Amino acid sequence: MDEKRSKENGCRHVLMIPYPSQGHINPMLQFAKLLSTKGVRATMVTTIFISKTMHLLSSSLLPNFIQFDTISDGYDQGGFAQASSIPTYLSSMKATGSKNLRELIQKYKISDYPIDCLVYDSFLPWVLEVAKEFSLLGAAFFTQMCAVNCIFYYVHHGLLKLPISSTPISIPGLPLLDLKDTPSFVHELGVYPAYYELVMNQFSSLHEADVILVNSFYKLEDQVVDAMSKLCPFVTIGPTVPSFHLDKEVPGDRANNVNLFQVDSSAINWLNPKPSRSVIYVSFGSMVSFSTEQMREIALGLMGTGFNFLWVIPALEAKNPPGELLEEMGASGRGLVVNWTPQLEVLSNQAVGCFLTHCGWNSTTEALCFGVPMVAMPQWTDQPLNAKYVEDVWKVGIRVKVNENGIVTREEIECCIREVMEKEHGGELRINAKKWKELAIEALSQGGTSDNNINEFVNMLKKCPY
Ligand code: UDP
Repeated sequence: MDEKRSKENGCRHVLMIPYPSQGHINPMLQFAKLLSTKGVRATMVTTIFISKTMHLLSSSLLPNFIQFDTISDGYDQGGFAQASSIPTYLSSMKATGSKNLRELIQKYKISDYPIDCLVYDSFLPWVLEVAKEFSLLGAAFFTQMCAVNCIFYYVHHGLLKLPISSTPISIPGLPLLDLKDTPSFVHELGVYPAYYELVMNQFSSLHEADVILVNSFYKLEDQVVDAMSKLCPFVTIGPTVPSFHLDKEVPGDRANNVNLFQVDSSAINWLNPKPSRSVIYVSFGSMVSFSTEQMREIALGLMGTGFNFLWVIPALEAKNPPGELLEEMGASGRGLVVNWTPQLEVLSNQAVGCFLTHCGWNSTTEALCFGVPMVAMPQWTDQPLNAKYVEDVWKVGIRVKVNENGIVTREEIECCIREVMEKEHGGELRINAKKWKELAIEALSQGGTSDNNINEFVNMLKKCPY
């Protein structure tokens, strides 16, 4: 028994182990904050490379209860980009990461705050093995929506056979799907074999996890959650959008605190004087990159609308957009291209009228929670299914059409943006988004579904023997 801890505060301590990318760190850190408001100490464990390169906005953290620590993934100088291939990186992360994680658990064992539970990104199932070795609770954390997890579950268990031979695809709890609506790893077999394995491996030992947490909320996906309850019970704890923007229970919690790119706040000054709903916000997250041809079509489509636009191109210099196009956009006086924005501040700015997005799950839930209608331009992984829900289930946006050469043309982009910015349909989308925002607030507020689920998780932690 840990004398010091039990006498002083009885505080439980959780290690949070995210997959090392922006879209996976953000929701886990937000979940850490939610736990901290309930008296749980949470330590975010990043890779050494991420900890050296990340930009930490500490102002809205809860300093006593959240801290950061590191493990190595074997690539401390360059992270993922330093590895020769994705499988090499993943196996190094497993080998080096699990060794380091064991050492970290030992380190805390002799501290005032021994570990009770490992909350691990479902992309890293090896963490569960480490948890079990130390008789700790293991909580899987899925950063993608329940419907996506459901499809991967079906494929993993042979309930949905690949390649899919007949459409529409019918899965209990999901709308009928065309092939193109499914996650890319399901409809573009063999394109990213390592990622295919990664998403399937999420389910390899999942039955041994003590709880399966998902960054979603019940009313957003009630039919999937209910349909999966006997097969794979998803415990919804989201959306992991900072409290200030939703239930306001933690007023200082306004931002995503960790940025893997240098934030350019000039975007906010640029937005502030613009008229209400007059700006298109354009971001395709942290990983998507386009061909030069597609970049050109996006740029010309945006300029064709005549609206102001703010376009995020992370690692701008590496993405190599045609220089003359950047100049043209700048010269038009309507476009601002930046490396990285404080996205939540942007989406909550009155000037933003529409979000041209890749439909990464975080961006999707953020747009939903800020009531910003979307033009969805999904690229890969879970994005096609997220976009299907955006358009057909939640009715908070529209999807672009891809032409026979795999390009979304400037005309298509312009037409979709006009539909959202100028037509009556845009107003309807905004009203629908407002409804989802209210339901998100309800889920996180005291007595809401996500709040109850988090309380149950905390109770589970409290029952751990000292
Ligand atoms: N984001 C940001 N600034 C930007 C672009 C994105 O802070 O300029 C954040 C965004 O708010 C979201 C995350 O980065 O929380 C991206 O996650 P998402 O799942 O949308 O996309 P991914 O990067 O994983 O493809």
